[in-house]
Amino acid sequence: MGLIVQKFGGTSVGSPERIMNAAQRVIEEKERGNDIVVVVSAMGKTTDHLVSLAGEISSKPSKREMDMLLTTGEQVTISLLTMALQAQGFDAISYTGWQAGIQTEHIHGNARITGIDSEKIKNQLQKGKIAVVAGFQGFADGSEITTLGRGGSDTTAVALAAALQADKCDIYTDVTGVFTTDPRLVKTARKLDGISYDEMLELANLGAGVLHPRAVEFAKNYGVPLEVRSSLESESGTLIEEETMMEQNLVVRGIAFEDQVSRVTVCGLPNNLLSLSTIFKTLASHGLNVDIIIQSSTDSNTASLSFSVKTGDVAETVDVLEMHQSELGFEKIESENGLSKVSIVGSGMVSNPGVAAEMFHVLAQEGIEVKMVSTSEIKVSTVIGHDDMVKAVEALHDAFELSKQPAPAV
Ligand code: ASP
Ligand code: MG
Repeated sequence: MGLIVQKFGGTSVGSPERIMNAAQRVIEEKERGNDIVVVVSAMGKTTDHLVSLAGEISSKPSKREMDMLLTTGEQVTISLLTMALQAQGFDAISYTGWQAGIQTEHIHGNARITGIDSEKIKNQLQKGKIAVVAGFQGFADGSEITTLGRGGSDTTAVALAAALQADKCDIYTDVTGVFTTDPRLVKTARKLDGISYDEMLELANLGAGVLHPRAVEFAKNYGVPLEVRSSLESESGTLIEEETMMEQNLVVRGIAFEDQVSRVTVCGLPNNLLSLSTIFKTLASHGLNVDIIIQSSTDSNTASLSFSVKTGDVAETVDVLEMHQSELGFEKIESENGLSKVSIVGSGMVSNPGVAAEMFHVLAQEGIEVKMVSTSEIKVSTVIGHDDMVKAVEALHDAFELSKQPAPAV
């Protein structure tokens, strides 16, 4: 007997039938003798619909009112799921983020959790009740409703699991687990039995949408064992845990990819110590996020600088830099759209030299030009043409034998 936090994503509660199905999942765990806290997302595409509804009223709705609007989505689900549990004869009670004691920074739209006052939930659990908590929302400064950023219900679940010292946090979703790469793109993609927090964090940050990156960060920091699993199928999912418990340090465990990448090149930049920091400070002050950065000296006086940004940010990036051209002192800016980022991730890379070389070799064999590269201890990212993306992912998936079930650890 233990304490389990179960989280159900939007599709898993997308209709009355799905909500009943989720209730069944909750009941199964309860009947095994566990205490249960449930965290839910808004039903189906509710949050998207609310966002577009706001867009019909105002082109620039205030962030506070957006939070007020979006948090209604999760409030619908908590009450319906609680009713479903009650209808089956189970004692359950729903709570908004605020009622559940989820405190955040006073930032609207993307707040971080700063603390959880879990007394109320603990009391209910002691009485044998199932607590159903709205994901994605919290409160700041005593009375302001905030949200944790899109996809933030995962973070609510993990944070509650950490605060309540739960034995486990199960993330129920519409896929059966975390895959070596996106199975919609690569038919031979394989479900992983396990993956380390660090690998998952890289994959989540690289755009593999299964888990909110901040949720993985939380799970790692507090040692919360996570499982990503299907709400419709009963097979076990993917366990996310500390490296040392893993079966094997695979050189490459997964491949992530991201579309809508662009490269901006600033030519003829004065080759002095301050010009780099001035450029990135300027971009940061406009909230523009830069990813991979490459600088090279063309001669002793000038340098050129390339960096990648999201395609949606290119126009503003170029505008901002051109606005400051005289103080930054560069000659011209070029930009290239239609690029993608393909990354390989695996904790075994730390101790295996030559992984990047192997990746470049595979891409070269496919005739794919690599435009930018960045690496960390456990990942290599390349920027390539968008038209080559699928081919690259398939070739790398093959070359690193990701569809092969690894041998069990001894
Ligand atoms: N409903 C929110 C969203 O769609 C939060 C979540 O589902 O995690 O982003
Ligand atoms: Mg999600």
